[in-house]
Amino acid sequence: MSDCVHCTHEIRSAEEACGWCGRWQNGHMPMCETHPTAPSVGLCVVCARPVCGTCAQRADGRLFCDDPAHQAFAADHTLVGSFDSEFEADWVAVVLRRAGIPSYAYSFRDHVSSWWFPLPSAVRLFIPASRAAEARAVLADVDDLPTSL
Ligand SMILES: [Zn+2]
Ligand SMILES: [Zn+2]
Ligand SMILES: [Zn+2]
Repeated sequence: MSDCVHCTHEIRSAEEACGWCGRWQNGHMPMCETHPTAPSVGLCVVCARPVCGTCAQRADGRLFCDDPAHQAFAADHTLVGSFDSEFEADWVAVVLRRAGIPSYAYSFRDHVSSWWFPLPSAVRLFIPASRAAEARAVLADVDDLPTSL
């Protein structure tokens, strides 16, 4: 664990984009999904779409893609964690569902320009912000989950 070089939120690895501000930590990055000749500056903090300096939307110091629904989504949802696989994210989603807490997954792998790009913690799981305290209590009982609640 270390801190993001842009915003000081905690990140798991220097290879990933910060879960809070969306920006890459180092020079190793995929191309923008919309502008394939431009290196991305980071990932939309909701859907993990690679965005470049031209098409990135910025709000509250965070990067978003051009889907306005994602800024609204970020306003009332909390990131449970960034996971290495759909399987891992699914496992957490099932634990939450059993406790009656809905969750929503977004994957870096859903974006064509990212398919070949090696990235740890590619799958993000969100819950309604109003359920964060409840989810934290539920997940505290499960060991070894890389959650960031
Ligand atoms: Zn950051
Ligand atoms: Zn997005
Ligand atoms: Zn772009």
